[in-house]
Amino acid sequence: MGLLNVGSVAFDAIETPFGKTDKIIGGAGTYIALSSSFFVANQHIVSVVGEDFPPAMLDKLQSRGVHLDGLQMKQGEKTFFWSGKYHNDMNSRDTLITELNVLEHFDPIIPESAQGAKYLMLGNLSPQVQRQVIERLTERPKLIAMDTMNFWMDIAMDELKKTIALVDVLIINDEEARQLSGEYSLVKASKFIRDLGPKYLIIKKGEHGALLFHDNQVFSAPALPLEEVFDPTGAGDTFAGGFIGFLAASDDISFENMKRALIAGSAMASFCVEEFGTGKLENLTQVEIDERIKAFVELTDFKMIHAI
Ligand code: AMP
Repeated sequence: MGLLNVGSVAFDAIETPFGKTDKIIGGAGTYIALSSSFFVANQHIVSVVGEDFPPAMLDKLQSRGVHLDGLQMKQGEKTFFWSGKYHNDMNSRDTLITELNVLEHFDPIIPESAQGAKYLMLGNLSPQVQRQVIERLTERPKLIAMDTMNFWMDIAMDELKKTIALVDVLIINDEEARQLSGEYSLVKASKFIRDLGPKYLIIKKGEHGALLFHDNQVFSAPALPLEEVFDPTGAGDTFAGGFIGFLAASDDISFENMKRALIAGSAMASFCVEEFGTGKLENLTQVEIDERIKAFVELTDFKMIHAI
């Protein structure tokens, strides 16, 4: 089995300057699954939902090759609920409500069929749960990537550092990199964070693209200038799904291939923001993805003319 994805499957309620949703389907694990499913034909998800979660979305995931034997459904309990409101610039948001519900006592059980996964994507969850997943795998995956957020830095920094020490790739945004390292310069922050353990660090910079650090190399991926951004929710998870999905599909973790994976992730994230929730990802076609990746390549393609 190639890819194992661990992350929240949730209800979200979102408010942006363009509108407001009631409870819609969200969750880091959902975005990672949908995004990576355009690259890998099969994957496992380890997560938990309540009995209120709509079976139609589970069918949708299954139809996209997501095996649900690691998805627990808790009778008599409610699905995780998160609500957020974006500021006018769409780059920052406030969390309005976090109801952990089934996530409060989440015990990530790895189904036998998911053992032996070569690629592990640890979506944003408590660092203890993320570590438990690594410890419960009978074989270390070829690559472990991990996302996290400032929430865990505020309340569980020591636990978080213990988990970060175990992964190969950490994927965070610029604000989180600064909080984690105490450094303003992202270059200094990247050194500090990689000293904690991960050999690779990806720093996402919202509408300014993403940076990939490894040894003394750095690669910069642009973000596509988009005319309209409706809802950035899930863009980070969609990026992570595209990144890990691309790597799992090509089964190549060289720095050169990680650069391509960074572009694949950025292309997927650029779709995510075009509609509220998972709407755009659910209806994407391979042709649209190929065209979008081409647009990314053209965005920074130039030849320098050397003056004599
Ligand atoms: P992103 O916009 O990429 O940061 O991810 C947004 C998604 O993360 C939403 O769909 C939420 O359901 C989910 N989420 C927000 N807070 C948490 C949390 N504390 N634990 C797990 N998932 C969360």
